[in-house]
Formats: sequence, C-alpha cells, structure tokens
Amino acid sequence: MDIIGFKEKMKEFNISFDDVLVHSGYLINLATPNDENWEKSINLMKEEIRITSLLGIKYFNVHPGSHLGEGDEFGYDRIAKALDIILEEVNNLGVNILLENVAKKGGNIGWKMEQLGEIIKRSNFSGKLGITYDTCHGFDSNYDIRDRDDVRRLLDEIDKYIGLEKFKMIHLNDSKFSLGAGKDRHEFIGKGEIGIKGFETFLSFDEIIKLPMHLETPGDDTEHAEDIKVIKRIFSNIYI
Ligand code: MN
Ligand code: MN
Ligand code: ZN
Repeated sequence: MDIIGFKEKMKEFNISFDDVLVHSGYLINLATPNDENWEKSINLMKEEIRITSLLGIKYFNVHPGSHLGEGDEFGYDRIAKALDIILEEVNNLGVNILLENVAKKGGNIGWKMEQLGEIIKRSNFSGKLGITYDTCHGFDSNYDIRDRDDVRRLLDEIDKYIGLEKFKMIHLNDSKFSLGAGKDRHEFIGKGEIGIKGFETFLSFDEIIKLPMHLETPGDDTEHAEDIKVIKRIFSNIYI
C-alpha cells in the first residue's frame, strides 16, 4: 500500500524515477574493521536495496565508510569486498549504488575523488557503481567551488579517477563552516560559506547543471521552499 501510494505521489508531482535516490541508513559502515558490524552493515544494505527496488527507485546512495584507524588501503579493500558481497545478491534488482563524497574527518574514506575511484576500481561490479557529489562535504574537504578553476579541477578529477559518465547526482548544500573545516554542518543555500556567488560559479558548468540535485539543508518544507527560490534566482542570474 505504501509502495503504491509512493508511486502515485511521484506521478502526481511529475518526478522522474531517474532523478531520485534512497539514502542508506547511517549505521552502515562498509569499511569497519569490526567483523560483526561489517556483516550487519552488509545485510542491512542488502535489505535497504531490496526496498529501494520495490519503490521503483534506481539509485541507492551510501557513504563509503570509516576505516576507524586502519588506514585507506584497508578501507578500499574492505568497502569493495562488501559491495561485491551485496551486489552478488542484488545486482539484478535494477538498483545502482552511488558512493557519496564525505567530509574530510576521522577515518572517513571518500572525501577525495581519487578515493571514490579507488573503491570503484577494486569492485567486480564497477558497472553498477557511480558517485554523488555533496557540495558541503566537498567544501569541507578543500574543493573550493566558489572558484572556477577549482570546479574545473573537481570535474577533471572525477573524469580521471571515476569517469564523468558515473557522476550521477548532486547534493546541493551550503556549509556553515569555512573551506577545509571538515565539520559537515549544512547551511541554507546562500547563507553559508559557499554563498550565492559560489553557487553561481558551481552551477554554471554544463557537466553539473544537467544532473539531478537534492537539497539536504536544515529545516523543513518552509525552509526548503525558500532554498528552492534562492536556487531559481541563482539560475536566472546565470542563464538569462
Ligand atoms: Mn549523505
Ligand atoms: Mn549529502
Ligand atoms: Zn553532510
């Protein structure tokens, strides 16, 4: 019943199933050195992907995980192995997994495009994997999208390490903290350190503007409606 209701709402609001994703639960850590938690993460993710498929959604977004001190090399292999175990079972359900870039903090893997690429390369199911770019997490990790050259550098890194065809979604968030802070605190669009000018720069690239974008800014419907207004104003400034 919930599934039918969901699909009806998607139709009612004219939202394409190509433009949405399911975000994994936050307890999942595919990089953990703890075997019990690793297996639990794998099993929970399989279950979440089955639900994603039942809803007719094609993309499942997950943070690569934290190696909790074991180092990046350990993390890449641990995550790739987990993804393979998961996809061996659910790869026929029509769901693609998107690895989201995360804030540079703790043992987080995936704050650099090169790291996301390393995971994808080590998986046997690289064809089912892509990436999501979160502007707040990227800003936390020294990708300064207020600067045209830095946006170019970001796109070049994605092209080099991952492939632009695997770049599928954007999480559009401003950042409460300054460049490289690694704090992961989202802010309303234009009210944070990226700012209106920053988003004008970021959104003026063809490779970015063609992608589906999701807000993960604070607040609820009222605040999000305001964020959408701000974004539309930014678009009208760029594309007159
Ligand atoms: Mn996320
Ligand atoms: Mn995000
Ligand atoms: Zn975040």
